[in-house]
Amino acid sequence: MVAPGIQFRCPTCKKEVMVLKPEDLPTRPFCCSRCKMIDLYKWFNEEIYISQSTHPESEFFKTHTSLDEEAERE
Ligand SMILES: [Zn+2]
Repeated sequence: MVAPGIQFRCPTCKKEVMVLKPEDLPTRPFCCSRCKMIDLYKWFNEEIYISQSTHPESEFFKTHTSLDEEAERE
């Protein structure tokens, strides 16, 4: 009989990962702690974005646009 493994796809990098026991991978369903952090960070940012009903993104965009223009001029 084939040893049963647990196969899943990392939601962050879409890599397929297989472990024999869930305990083998504490970061599941992520393949590594880095992917886990990326996902947490993503959710965290979305929550901030939703909780701020004002539009801070326009300020963010303005800052980045001016930086881009600055870079192009040099
Ligand atoms: Zn991953």
